[in-house]
Amino acid sequence: MSAVQQITVLGATGSIGLSTLDVIARHPERYQVFALTGFSRLTELLALCVRHVPRFAVVPEVEAASRLQEELRAAGLATQVLVGEQGLCDVASAPEVDAVMAAIVGAAGLRPTLAAVEAGKKILLANKEALVMSGALFMQAVGKSGSVLLPIDSEHNAIFQCMPTDFSRGLSQVGVRRILLTASGGPFRQTPLEELEHVSPEQACAHPNWSMGRKISVDSASMMNKGLELIEACWLFDAKPSQVEVVVHPQSVIHSLVDYVDGSVLAQLGNPDMRTPIANALAWPERIDSGVAPLDLFAIARLDFQAPDEQRFPCLRLARQAAEVGDSAPAMLNAANEVAVSAFLERRIRYPEIASIIDEVLTREPVVAVNELDAVFAADAKARVLAQQWLQRNGR
Ligand code: NDP
Ligand code: MG
Repeated sequence: MSAVQQITVLGATGSIGLSTLDVIARHPERYQVFALTGFSRLTELLALCVRHVPRFAVVPEVEAASRLQEELRAAGLATQVLVGEQGLCDVASAPEVDAVMAAIVGAAGLRPTLAAVEAGKKILLANKEALVMSGALFMQAVGKSGSVLLPIDSEHNAIFQCMPTDFSRGLSQVGVRRILLTASGGPFRQTPLEELEHVSPEQACAHPNWSMGRKISVDSASMMNKGLELIEACWLFDAKPSQVEVVVHPQSVIHSLVDYVDGSVLAQLGNPDMRTPIANALAWPERIDSGVAPLDLFAIARLDFQAPDEQRFPCLRLARQAAEVGDSAPAMLNAANEVAVSAFLERRIRYPEIASIIDEVLTREPVVAVNELDAVFAADAKARVLAQQWLQRNGR
């Protein structure tokens, strides 16, 4: 194996960021932390810097940067603090960096992740929203720079592991019939429909199997997460939306499956712990210890499967429609969802209104071609304005 790899962790203070640092710390002979970035949890960022001694740390604004710089100096560290989106793009594309964990949540991750792609880095992609927003441009940039793109989302990492190595030739060329994307169904899989009006952010964030950030937890409850993942799978594996079937599998043990024309169906199984896909992508094509306990099939005993219920989960239907329409529709879907989920987390709207807001934005705004990044951000901004208008009109 070659020299120690330098890793930038975008979104280090989050759930994926922390799991990544846990795996990295198990293999000091393989990985060194080059840069860590945070946004609001800056005390945690300082503690992570003390533990992992990065060359750079990135925070959103100048005042926080001076404070952190001072604290780092007092702790005897030479870590240099950079600021804002430019700082994120710099640590994502620095020549010394081998791999970038893209784990900022939401649209805020797009520019830094693209900067890493354009610099030809190995990309460990957790930030699915970046790919949903700008799939065509993102994949073109990957092709152009020769960047290696490895999925961190557990389902896509599972699909990646079950695909033949030459899947980029095209799914039909390699004998793949369809992708089976598993979904736990989240905390509201069996909640009576009339009770969904009254569910709280805490209930939405209490995922039965996974511990995650708040935004993706709400997305999992509404199954918008699966909708975003459907779009993500289409870009990563060059699939049509009709080739991706969502399968509700409440135990979250099978992380997804690939169905081949000869009738073989390959699945990847494991305990629901993001350190498995993170370790898989970090070491690919090798394998390293992730710290995850071995799967105990006798304890699990049974695996269940159901078709998704689109009446219960209208966000999944909206995402599939956006995937089929293409162009600016996925960027608008994502932006409207980000606004709606924030409003729900702030208790300004009820849970079913997340889908109402997204539906209205997608109905009101015509779809346009997105051939450049500015057009993606324009569609994103337009959808945010329309979603805000919904909130104002409804007195939220
Ligand atoms: P968290 O909310 O736990 O972490 C998000 C990270 O992004 C934090 O480091 C946060 O900083 C940072 N951040 C938030 N807003 C901004 C911003 N405007 N600019 C720069 N940085 C920002 O989320 P997760 O770790 O759960 O998820 C991260 C990504 O990974 C998401 O795209 C999610 O969909 C994806 N993912 C997550 C999975 C999981 O199991 N958690 C599974 C599959 C995919 P701070 O905390 O300091 O505010
Ligand atoms: Mg997932």
